[in-house]
Amino acid sequence: MVTHYVVNCVLIKNNEVLLEQDLGGTFWKLPGGHIDEEETPLEALERECKEELGTGVEIISKPNAFTSNSIAQSLPIPLNTYLYDVSSDSHFDGNHRHLGFVYTAKPIGEVQSLEHQQLKWFSISDLGEESINPVVKALCLEALRTYGEA
Ligand SMILES: [Zn+2]
Repeated sequence: MVTHYVVNCVLIKNNEVLLEQDLGGTFWKLPGGHIDEEETPLEALERECKEELGTGVEIISKPNAFTSNSIAQSLPIPLNTYLYDVSSDSHFDGNHRHLGFVYTAKPIGEVQSLEHQQLKWFSISDLGEESINPVVKALCLEALRTYGEA
């Protein structure tokens, strides 16, 4: 099966996480999108956040034991990764799967909706809402519990 690489962001501010919803949509999702061929996941994340939210982001990551040298660059460690069969989801068309990299980050500037999405900040208690996919909810809780005070 064709595999697309995608990146998602758990954006944290004041102990809340940002989720987005298509106008007229019914489910909340993490900001993000496909990684272009020439991009690293981090470059794609930066681009997607600027396109969707109008802001750059600062990645929050666990300490990385690997340090950069003259030929290899150390990159921030993702919060999580996933493999998702897109063909099983009626929200997408096409028969492929997504290998996703999920990062935690802080917005550098003001977050605004630039792509006709409704945006909402969720606290841990807000995440109890039923309309949030259990996987999205689990990733948000993991990010808040690990980096909530960052
Ligand atoms: Zn795809």
